[in-house]
Amino acid sequence: MSTLAIHGGKPVRDTYLPYGHHSIDEQDKNSVIEALSSDWLTTGPKVIEFEETFAKKVGSKYAVAVNSGTAALHASVFAADIGLGDEVITTPMTFAASANCVLYQGARPVFADIREDTLNIDPDKVKKLVTEKTKAIIAVDYGGQPADIDELKEIASENGLLLIEDAAHSLDATYKGKSIGSLSDLTTFSLHPVKHITTGEGGVIATNDKKMADRIRRFRNHGISTDHHERAEKGTFYYEMMELGYNYRIPDINCALGLSQLKKLDTWVARRREIAGLYNKSLSKMPSIDIPSQLADRESSWHLYLIMLKLDMLSVGRNEIIKALRAENIGVNVHYIPVYWHPYYQNLDYKKGVCPVAEEAYERLITLPLFPAMTERDTKDVIEAVSKVIGFYSV
Ligand SMILES: *Cc1c(COP(=O)(O)O)cnc(C)c1O
Repeated sequence: MSTLAIHGGKPVRDTYLPYGHHSIDEQDKNSVIEALSSDWLTTGPKVIEFEETFAKKVGSKYAVAVNSGTAALHASVFAADIGLGDEVITTPMTFAASANCVLYQGARPVFADIREDTLNIDPDKVKKLVTEKTKAIIAVDYGGQPADIDELKEIASENGLLLIEDAAHSLDATYKGKSIGSLSDLTTFSLHPVKHITTGEGGVIATNDKKMADRIRRFRNHGISTDHHERAEKGTFYYEMMELGYNYRIPDINCALGLSQLKKLDTWVARRREIAGLYNKSLSKMPSIDIPSQLADRESSWHLYLIMLKLDMLSVGRNEIIKALRAENIGVNVHYIPVYWHPYYQNLDYKKGVCPVAEEAYERLITLPLFPAMTERDTKDVIEAVSKVIGFYSV
């Protein structure tokens, strides 16, 4: 066996392969330049065109674009009328923003544990946490595989809750043949460069509810009731601030990039699926790792490719394996530290131990590089490095 790079051996590759990376081509650049030369840098026709194209793509009646996935989550919690004293059930296996948005509105996130096989929020655990104070469930389609939407919808309808789906990982995924974005009361997307398509920074809320869409449009513009187009049409200076909103507006420049990126979404997701397939084929044979299961009734759009170490078959822990893989120039990562383990949540008196499945998964998880521009060589390098490092530490 060749010497590990961490022990002074030659790394599997010479250049560092990141875990995710955006793709920008000439078409994207031209689209942005065109917007820069127009009369509208923000709140103009590109925003509307992007929203309409996005809604069509995900199968929702309405799509509202904002300036981050986090703003999309905040706007959704606001539109769901969640406030002081309310509770929202969510998963700890996510980026902090999925729970922070509840805190922004003065409500309390309650963490339900995840399923051992898919690492998505477990509907049975959600059911047990519903109280008089519960207003909504925020599910996350972890890694790109949709959560148990039907079961969650049933719990929501039985208890008068809204279902908010954080689909930052699952743009273009399907659940029982239906597009993500068409299923939940509110579905949020992120357009950060590491996600499926990017606007630099950006986010979208998809919904079939006109009232909520209108409220979100107002929320992203300080809570002001008429926009400047309407004011210009009516020839009036007058406007009214109705609710406490924010400036969550997304520029036309960014939406021009988003429109151009959307054209490539299908090809990129197909490429992600292809790479995931290659990983599955090689890595599922390795005895000391597990791969989260993919359920037959839904198709992931593969934002993340995860492996889970079988720690009792390895002589070192996850952190050492990560160091060794990074020394081989493979940019592995961890998604996620359970949200309530963060010091801010610990200071709010969240107790460690409440979601044992998520906590145990966290100790075993490694995210491998996965993005559409990866070459066959890159994919082979990742597989080679994983088998080199895991092979070395296997007992
Ligand atoms: C990326 C991400 C967000 C936040 O999106 P931003 O656009 O970075 O604000 C929220 N939830 C999940 C699960 C994410 O992966």
